[in-house]
Amino acid sequence: MSKITSMLQLQQQLNDATNGKEWEEGVTAQGKIINWKRCIYLECAELVESYPWKHWKNISAPADTENIKIEVVDIWHFVMSEVLRLNRGRDIEEIAKEIKSLQNFCIIQDEAKEIDDNHLDQIANIEDFIKTIFMEASWQDILEKYLTILAQSGLNVDSLYSLYIGKNILNQFRQDHGYKDGTYKKLWGNVEDNVVMQEILKEHPNITPYELYDALKERYEDLD
Ligand code: MG
Ligand code: MG
Repeated sequence: MSKITSMLQLQQQLNDATNGKEWEEGVTAQGKIINWKRCIYLECAELVESYPWKHWKNISAPADTENIKIEVVDIWHFVMSEVLRLNRGRDIEEIAKEIKSLQNFCIIQDEAKEIDDNHLDQIANIEDFIKTIFMEASWQDILEKYLTILAQSGLNVDSLYSLYIGKNILNQFRQDHGYKDGTYKKLWGNVEDNVVMQEILKEHPNITPYELYDALKERYEDLD
């Protein structure tokens, strides 16, 4: 199974479990309206905030390259959700095949490049992506723009996959441990849960989703 297929399947499962089986119709099991575009542009704002764009504050600060990657993966959850919604009823393997045939897909198959210093160009690409979302563009056009952002953020399909698996499992873990009713503890000691997740992934790059879930569970149960 390709990495794209596998990520789409995990996202489908996550959305089914979190929002109910009718989420593709735009509403959760609890009757909340779903707006993936809003999810995408707000995560894009978090991505822009990872750059030292402010002219009045810390003007020579470096970009937060680690957080850039986290935000790009956050966006990926919502981009896939929007793609799955727009392709509801279609076979996931077929959607994945189409994604792999996109023009910009080849740029994320190469070795990942370091994040450049041309921060303003990168921010312009992010803003162009936001614009595309609101233009009623096709899902393919939205993805082409997303792939550009992915590549400029120092990621490729392999690192996206590993970060996504981590985040997906963390989301499942949060849902299973009281995220919705507010009883979930996001701070694990002095650090956020996603920092712990990254540490585990760094130590065990070939960990399976199931093993990662167990590792998180072990650390969470040790908190008290
Ligand atoms: Mg967020
Ligand atoms: Mg975020």
